[in-house]
Amino acid sequence: MTGGILCIILYTGFVVLPVILATFLGSGSERFIPELGKNFGLMGFMILIAQFILAARIKWIERAFGFDIVIRYHKNMAVLAGCLLLFHPLLLAAGGRGWQLIAGLKMPWYIWLGKVALLVLLLNIFVSSFQTSFKLKYEKWRLGHDILGPLIIVMAFTHSWIMGDDLELASMKTLWIFALILAIFMFLYHVMIRPWRLKRCSYRVVDVQPETENVWTIKMTPPEGADIYDYLPGQFHFVTFYRQMNLPVEEHHWTISSSPTEEDYVSSTIKALGDFTSTIGKTKKGDRAAVHGAFGRFSHVLHPEEKDLVFIAGGIGITPFMSMLRHMRKTMDTHSVLLIFANKKEAQIVFRDELAEMEKGGHPRLKVIHVLSRPDEDWKGETGYVDREKIERFCGADPGGKVFYVCGPAPMRRAIIADLRNMHVPDERIRMEIFSFLE
Ligand SMILES: Cc1cc2nc3c(=O)[nH]c(=O)nc-3n(C[C@H](O)[C@H](O)[C@H](O)COP(=O)(O)OP(=O)(O)OC[C@H]3O[C@@H](n4cnc5c(N)ncnc54)[C@H](O)[C@@H]3O)c2cc1C
Repeated sequence: MTGGILCIILYTGFVVLPVILATFLGSGSERFIPELGKNFGLMGFMILIAQFILAARIKWIERAFGFDIVIRYHKNMAVLAGCLLLFHPLLLAAGGRGWQLIAGLKMPWYIWLGKVALLVLLLNIFVSSFQTSFKLKYEKWRLGHDILGPLIIVMAFTHSWIMGDDLELASMKTLWIFALILAIFMFLYHVMIRPWRLKRCSYRVVDVQPETENVWTIKMTPPEGADIYDYLPGQFHFVTFYRQMNLPVEEHHWTISSSPTEEDYVSSTIKALGDFTSTIGKTKKGDRAAVHGAFGRFSHVLHPEEKDLVFIAGGIGITPFMSMLRHMRKTMDTHSVLLIFANKKEAQIVFRDELAEMEKGGHPRLKVIHVLSRPDEDWKGETGYVDREKIERFCGADPGGKVFYVCGPAPMRRAIIADLRNMHVPDERIRMEIFSFLE
C-alpha cells in the first residue's frame, strides 16, 4: 500500500508543480478568473503528460493498484484533462481576454494550434469512450490513439511555449522540456523499445494442446539460459505470437493458466472468441512469442490469511482459478476451496479431468460443482444459472465468512456480484477479474 500512496503523492505533485512554480515565481495576476484559466491549462498539460506514464505498463505502478484500475484511471484522467483544457480558454476569455479568443477567426497561428489540439483531444476522448458502441476494431482504435496522443502533446507544448507568460521563467521552461521528453520517451518505450526487446528474447511455443472444441492451451518456454519472469498464480500476461506468414501479429492479454511452480514453461489457455483468437489453433510448436508479464492482483497469495475460498468461474473464466489451484496442489496447500464452474454444455468444460484429480488429491481441500445452463438429457448434475439460491445452498449457513472470487462473462459476473451483495457479503470479500479493459 505504501507504493500506492507514494504513486498518488508523486502523481499529484507532478500535476500541480507548474501551478506552484507559476504562483510563487511567476508574474501572476490579481484576478481570480484568468489565473484559474491559466492554472487549468497548466494542470491539463501535466495530466496529458502523465497519461503516457500510466499507459506504459510500468510494473511498480501496476503492482500497487492492478492493471485494470490503472487503465480506468488513465481513462478518467483523460476526461478530467479534457474538461480543464476546455475551461482554460473559456475562463481566459471571461477573465479579460475577450470572447474574440473563442469566436474570432483572426488569431495568431499558435492560438489556432491550441484550439486544434483541444479539438483533437476531445475527439480522442470521445472515440475512446465509445469505441465499442462505434464497433471500431481494437487495432484501428489503438493505431489512431497512438498517433493522436503524441500529436496532441506536441501541439499543446508548442502553443503553451509561445503563449504562456509563465514559460518565460527558467524553472518552468526546464519543467516543460523535461515533461515533453518524458512523454516522448514513455511513448517510444511502450510502442517500440519494449516490443523490440521482448521480440529479441522471445519465448518458444513448445506445446499446443486442444482442450475442448474451441479452446487450446499453449505452452511457452523462455530462451535458453533465461528464467521465466516472476508471477503470481492468477495473474495475466501480454503475448504477441510470431507464426506463419499469413497469421496476424497482435498483442493480446491472457491469464497465465500454469502455476509459477512450473520452472520450464508458462501457459495460457485460450478460447476462440473473435478475429485473432479464431486463429489460435493454428499456432505450432516452434513458433515464437514475445511475452510481457506479469500483471493483475487476482490471486489468493496476496491474501494469505484467507483460508475459506469460493471460486465462481464461467466458461474460459476458469483460467486464473486453474493457475491458483495448480499452485495450491504443488505447494501442498490446505485452503478449503469450493469451485462453482458454470458452462453451457458438458463438452465445454475445460480442465474437467484435472479438476476431478485435484478433488481427490486433498491439496487444496477442493470441491467442484459443475452447473450447466444447456445440459444434454443424461446430465445428472446442477442445471440453470449460478444464482443466489445455488450459492446459498452450496456455501452453507455462513457465506459472509468466505471470500468469493468471480471470473466469467460480464452478465454472469454482474448477476453474481449483485447476488453476493444481497447476501450481505462485504465488498472486501468479493474479488473479480474482468476479461476486458473496455468495461
Ligand atoms: C485480464 C484478462 C485476462 C484474460 N484471460 C483470458 C484467458 O485466459 N483466456 C481467454 O481465452 N481469454 C482471456 N481474455 C480475453 C482475451 O484477451 C480476448 O478474448 C481476446 O483479446 C479477444 O481477441 P480477438 O481479437 O480474438 O476478439 P475480438 O472479438 O476481435 O475482440 C474482442 C474484444 O477484445 C478487445 N481486443 C481485441 N484485440 C485486443 C488487443 N490486442 N488488446 C486488447 N484488447 C483487444 C476488443 O475490445 C474487442 O472488443 C482475458 C482478458 C483480460 C482483460
